Amino acid sequence: MRVGVPREIKVHEYRVGLTPAGAAELVQAGHEVFVETKAGDGVGFADSAYEAVGAKILPDAAAVFKTAELIVKVKEPQPIEYARLTPDHTLFTYLHLAPDPEQTKGLMDSGCIAIAYETVTDNEGRLPLLKPMSEVAGRMSIQVGATALEKSHGGRGMLLGGVPGVQPAKVVILGGGVSGTHAAEMAVGMRADVTIFDRSIKRLAELDTQFQGRAKTAFSTAAAVEEAIIGADLVIGAVLIPGAAAPKLVTREMLKKMKDGAVLVDIAIDQGGCFETSKPTTHQSPTFIVDGVVHYCVANMPGAVARTSTIALTNATLPFTLAIANKGAKKAMNDDPHLARGLNVAEGHVTYEPVARDLGHKYV
Ligand code: NAD
Repeated sequence: MRVGVPREIKVHEYRVGLTPAGAAELVQAGHEVFVETKAGDGVGFADSAYEAVGAKILPDAAAVFKTAELIVKVKEPQPIEYARLTPDHTLFTYLHLAPDPEQTKGLMDSGCIAIAYETVTDNEGRLPLLKPMSEVAGRMSIQVGATALEKSHGGRGMLLGGVPGVQPAKVVILGGGVSGTHAAEMAVGMRADVTIFDRSIKRLAELDTQFQGRAKTAFSTAAAVEEAIIGADLVIGAVLIPGAAAPKLVTREMLKKMKDGAVLVDIAIDQGGCFETSKPTTHQSPTFIVDGVVHYCVANMPGAVARTSTIALTNATLPFTLAIANKGAKKAMNDDPHLARGLNVAEGHVTYEPVARDLGHKYV
């Protein structure tokens, strides 16, 4: 199959849909890979790195869309991109269609097959192509939280791990799923005093086994969370109720009781955030202060570490990309119900029920 990788055109998006290592696997499997010139420049993958593994460099996006049957990307297609899609294309990328009627219509009008990373499932019913970005955001949350705790960033001037003779910082993690667990790994590694809250007893038991006493676990009730955040130096918001807005676990009233210079990192901001005072921020201006508490609420945290994120994303998507290239989209989805869960739009119809329901389209 002819696989195309256009350069991402969304503002401040440096990631690329396929690494040279991923391109090499496709070429070895007998496919042709076409990459738009400079597509990997933002993350240090030069055109020559793709050429070295047998991919061909094309001068612009128009040529990539014209040549390739399977388009592999990172972000949802922009209007100029979905205008280039035809019934001969399969698109494999993040789509997030539910809040985006224009893109949905653009994909329907194109007649293409559009498979969304974010709705592909695995045997545990989880979302394996969202997982790498939650891992990145979770690990990064401790890095940015530690920086925000520094005096010059508005924090209370604390080192996460303390030093001999000085207590470590208290880190409270709300939500012990993918991002919360990766945050805990980093915080424990930096020798902070870590407590993870979750509503799932099963998850708390797994965390208890995983951390072997290096992190405490606690059942998440309003009273327990309030008590913990009053004493906390750094709070990580990592809760998720699938398909729903994040619950507001820290109210404005509770915030007033927190220490001056404490830090909140709201990873769940893309679902509305789990602190009442959160509002989305950008990498250019990531923090703001309310009642003396520093808030970090960047909605696309992985974008700051675009190279790590690109490699993690290709690691997760490559088996599916190979299956689509080897078998064709329709057979690949017939053979793998988890990949089929990713199908959002096909041949002019919305094929993913929640999107059809939210946008008032017929579900086919
Ligand atoms: P996950 O499903 O793996 O984990 C969520 C956890 O929250 C679950 O263990 C669940 O039991 C727990 N939970 C639910 N309600 C709770 C409550 N009231 N108190 C405590 N715990 C509760 O989810 P994830 O993959 O870790 O993602 C978390 C959030 O981070 C999502 O909103 C996701 O979209 C977001 N995210 C943001 C970025 C970013 O750049 N900001 C990047 C990746 C993911």
